[in-house]
Amino acid sequence: VSAVWPRIIAHADMDAFYASIEQHDAPELRGRPVLVGPRSLRGVVLTASYEARPFGVGSAMPMARARRLCPQAVVVPPRFERYKQVSAQLMRALADFSARVEPLSLDEAFVDMSGSSHIFGDARSIGARLKAAIREATGGLTASVGVSASKYVAKVASSFAKPDGLTVVPPDEVRAWLAPQPISRLWGAGPKTQARLAEMGFATIGDVAGADPARLTAALGRIGVRFHALSRGEDVREVAASRTAKSLSCERTLERDIDSREEIERQLRKAADGVGRRLRKNRLLAGGVRVKLKTSAFRVLTRQQSLPAETQSSEVLYGTAAALLAAFDERGPFRLVGVCAYDLCSAAESTQLDLDVGDGARSRRLDAALDAVARRFGPGAVQRGSDAIGQSGIVGDVNLDFLNDDG
Ligand SMILES: [Mg+2]
Repeated sequence: VSAVWPRIIAHADMDAFYASIEQHDAPELRGRPVLVGPRSLRGVVLTASYEARPFGVGSAMPMARARRLCPQAVVVPPRFERYKQVSAQLMRALADFSARVEPLSLDEAFVDMSGSSHIFGDARSIGARLKAAIREATGGLTASVGVSASKYVAKVASSFAKPDGLTVVPPDEVRAWLAPQPISRLWGAGPKTQARLAEMGFATIGDVAGADPARLTAALGRIGVRFHALSRGEDVREVAASRTAKSLSCERTLERDIDSREEIERQLRKAADGVGRRLRKNRLLAGGVRVKLKTSAFRVLTRQQSLPAETQSSEVLYGTAAALLAAFDERGPFRLVGVCAYDLCSAAESTQLDLDVGDGARSRRLDAALDAVARRFGPGAVQRGSDAIGQSGIVGDVNLDFLNDDG
């Protein structure tokens, strides 16, 4: 696969995002034309459901005009808090596939799947899995997905077969596939540039690809070179990892303050288990471990340690965290204990997972077994032998799913 596919980049874009969420949350809106936007006639349509689109209604159209074109449409005021919730579900689902997810807006993101085909299959099955995962994570909403070897082509591909589309453009078919597309699909070409290109006699991306770059530069300036490259599917930009994937932490506020070494270690163990589980679930490796303690006087103390080798093992996280306790001058009492994994990278990019021998293998098997129980019965169901005592006083798994970006 990789010989033909130097990179595998997917672009996922939710279909009629706001309108689909409204139809999802209010079943009586399903199958009906829905316009998300202000009830006032002065605003614009934010999203039109697919049922409204045959009437010629679309995003950014003045509401007055949209309601003239489609008087039977139901107008629903936007609920951005709700859209953000679903967006978080979407981004979390994508983060399960790659550490490199670059959101472009609430409802679309690039996912770099390079080097993942041994896990997820070829480009088409990667796309199909992304779609299925999004549908599951969002309670049944659909996304259209494009897969190619560059961000630009993946993005054009995702818009090619909406809604619920999956378009795969192999690298050697890029130029032929782009050629018949209208110049409005050239990324960054606004209405003015499109008009200018049309004046020059260009109607399709293929026309631009075949043009003399000097002519494009003369007419459009330096951006002309960029359009020429894009029209040929040349786009070397990397998928930028999302800021939220830089560290991952698990911390608990305790019901009563603790100061005994054993109790602090027990809390570290639980936190390290939680962090390890999330690392493995998201196929990430940590390059460092940070311990956070909050004193009963609400002073926050942290100590951190880089790891000699990246890890996703709960055992290694715990061992490092427990050793870090010696670096704190303060002896407690503490009201909060937390463990943070930082310097995260994608497990797919690391070479360190192929040492399936010795102690590492044993602790990985244990991790895998605990993960399976946690998946089935919830994180609280799992306790290692050392955790099975002294459970009273813990407020449950507070903040277990807390993903922060302080690293
Ligand atoms: Mg969308």
